[in-house]
Amino acid sequence: MRRILVGFACLTSVASATVHYKLIPEPEARSIVVSITVDHPHQFETFRIPGWSPGYYQMASYEKKVSDVRAADSQGNGLKVDNSDIRSWRVASNGASEETLSYRVLGDDPGLGFFAVNVQSDKAFMNGAAAFMYVDGRTTEDVDLTIKNRDGWDVATPMTPGANGRFTAGGYDEFIDHPIQLGEFKRRTFTLSGIPFEVDFVAPENQVRCNMDAETERLKAVSAPALKLFHDAGFKKYYYIIHLEVGNFSGGLEHRACNVQAVANSGELHLDDLAAHEYFHAWNVKQIRPKVLGPFDYTQPQRTGNLWFSEGVTDYYAKLHTFQSGLRTEAWLQNEIADQIRQLQSGQTRKIKTVEEASRNCWEQDGFGFGDLSFYTKGLLAGFLLDSAIIDATNGTKTLDDVMRTLFQRCRLPKPGFDEDELRTTINEVAGKDLSGLYNKIVRSTDEMPYSIVSKIGMKVGVPSQERQSPSANVAEYVVETDPAASPHAKALYSVWLHRLNGVE
Ligand SMILES: [Zn+2]
Repeated sequence: MRRILVGFACLTSVASATVHYKLIPEPEARSIVVSITVDHPHQFETFRIPGWSPGYYQMASYEKKVSDVRAADSQGNGLKVDNSDIRSWRVASNGASEETLSYRVLGDDPGLGFFAVNVQSDKAFMNGAAAFMYVDGRTTEDVDLTIKNRDGWDVATPMTPGANGRFTAGGYDEFIDHPIQLGEFKRRTFTLSGIPFEVDFVAPENQVRCNMDAETERLKAVSAPALKLFHDAGFKKYYYIIHLEVGNFSGGLEHRACNVQAVANSGELHLDDLAAHEYFHAWNVKQIRPKVLGPFDYTQPQRTGNLWFSEGVTDYYAKLHTFQSGLRTEAWLQNEIADQIRQLQSGQTRKIKTVEEASRNCWEQDGFGFGDLSFYTKGLLAGFLLDSAIIDATNGTKTLDDVMRTLFQRCRLPKPGFDEDELRTTINEVAGKDLSGLYNKIVRSTDEMPYSIVSKIGMKVGVPSQERQSPSANVAEYVVETDPAASPHAKALYSVWLHRLNGVE
C-alpha cells in the first residue's frame, strides 16, 4: 500500500513517504551500524525492533544485541531517546524536519547467520528482523537502503537494486523479508520459465567443498515443479543462499524471494527436499497464508491453527516435487511418507492434542508443534490424505494442486491471507463434495488418522510382517505402497496422484 495524498499542503508529505535505511558492516567490532532517517517526523516517533521473525514461530530477543542507540536532527543536534520498553525507543523530534536514529547490532549469530546477524572478518549476514527496526505507523511506506559495503565485498539480496548502490522495497514487511549477504562467497545462476535464479555458496574462508555446478543443477531440477503447478510466482528473481557451516540450527528459513539453508560444508549437499520445502514457501506461507501472517504484528506471538498447512503441506509438496523433479524414485517418495507415519504414530501427544491446537500453541514450545506432536509431520500426512480424498471425489480431475492454485489467486499479496476456516471450505469447493467430516477428523480431532482412504487411489498403508519390524525401538515400521489388487480405476487415480505435472510446461 502506498499513501496517496492530494493538495498543496501535503506535497511535503508525499516526499516523506519513504523511510531511509543505511547499513554499515564493521567487522573490527563484529557488528553492523544501522541508521534510519525519517522526514517530517511526528512530535514523537517510536522505533521498534521486532519480537520475532516471520518463518520461525518463537519470540526472539533481538533487543539484547542492540546498543549505542542515539538520535539526531539533520544538523547533527542530539535528540532525546527514551527506551520506553525493552524493544522500543521513542525519540522526541523537537520540531526537527528530519531525524535519524542510529544503533549498533552485535553480529554473533551462530554459524554464518540464520535468524539474526553474523559479522566476520570476510563476510556479514543480516536476517532483516534482527537488523532493522521499524517506525511505528510507517511500515507501509516505501523503504530504501544504502549499504556502505567494504572494499572487495560482494552483495547478494533479493531486494530491488536502484541507483548508487541503493536497494528498495515496498514497505517494511517486504524489506525485512529480504536477507542480505555481504562479503566473499561463490555464485552460480540458472533460469527457469524466464525467471533468473541465483545460488550463493557461503563457506568459511570461501572454501566450498561440494561440486557447485552439480548442486546447482539439482536446485534447478527441484525448482521446476512448483512453477509448473502455479504457472506464476510472487517473485521476479529467486535466491538460494547456502550457508556451509552449521551453527546451533541446521535447516532452512524461507523468505519472500529467497531461502537460506544452513548445512555442513560437505562434498555432497543434495539439498533436494529441504530446498524444495523452503522454495515452496514462496507460495505457501509467503502468499497463501493465514491472515495473521502478513501484514505482521511483530510485538507478540501471532497464533493460527493452520501452521499444519503452512508447514506440513509444504513438506508434503517438498516430497512430491523432489520425486517429480526426477531426483528421487517413486519408492523413495513412498518411504518418506511411511517414515512420517512412523514418526506420528510413535508419539503420544497426538492422542490429546489436535494438529490445530499444536499449531496455535507452538509458541510455548519449540515452534515446531506441541509435545511430541509435530505439525510438520501430521500436516504432511494431512496433505497426503486430503489430496487422496480430492482425487477420489473428483475421479482424478482435481487434486490438492487445485486447492493451492485457488488459494494463490485469492490470497496473493497484496490481498489478505485466508480466514481460519477457509482451507476447509476451499477443499470442499474444489472437491465438489462436502469433505468436512474427513477434514475435522484429521485436523480437529485426536482420532487416529484414516489412512485407509488411500486405498481409493490404489495405495495401502500397512504394518509389515514381523521380520520387517524395527528391531531396536519397538516402533512399527509402516509401509506405504501401491496395492497390486487395486481396481483399474484406483490404479488410474494413483497415476494421477503421482504424475499430475506430467506434460505441464
Ligand atoms: Zn517451513
